[in-house]
Amino acid sequence: TEETLVLVKPDGVARGLTGSILARIEAKGYALVDIRLVEPDRDVLAEHYAEHEGKPFYEPLLEFMMSGPSVAIRLAGNRVIEGFRSLAGTTDPTTAAPGTIRGDFGRDWGLAVQQNLVHGSDSPESAARELGIWFS
Ligand code: ATP
Repeated sequence: TEETLVLVKPDGVARGLTGSILARIEAKGYALVDIRLVEPDRDVLAEHYAEHEGKPFYEPLLEFMMSGPSVAIRLAGNRVIEGFRSLAGTTDPTTAAPGTIRGDFGRDWGLAVQQNLVHGSDSPESAARELGIWFS
């Protein structure tokens, strides 16, 4: 079995979509190992998004992620890293496939950052690193 970090981002929490998102995760058979409401400060987000520092959407991304609470989830299951990213859909909600979280619920607000409802780790190395940041 494998673990990943999932975040329901501030737009997902604010829009009342946490339950709908968790329902899809649970229906797929993944196990909630730990779950908490978080209000990350700038240092936590800078660590989480270190690879994006300097990109045009970096500052708006951090501001967005500090705009309200998120839900952090330690999720377990066979191939859960790949499986959750498949459930989430691609980054841009406009073109994310229908049937995915971003494809079904995501909206393009025309802002500098994609408010795309969820985050999921993209590799075992990222998952270990990110779980250490959010669940230390
Ligand atoms: P995540 O890592 O959040 O699951 P992802 O791997 O598809 O999504 P990344 O490339 O890691 O996306 O980017 C992190 C986040 O930064 C995205 O989820 C989105 O909120 C924002 N973002 C990424 N690329 C852009 C872009 N070109 N324009 C605006 N926002 C972006």
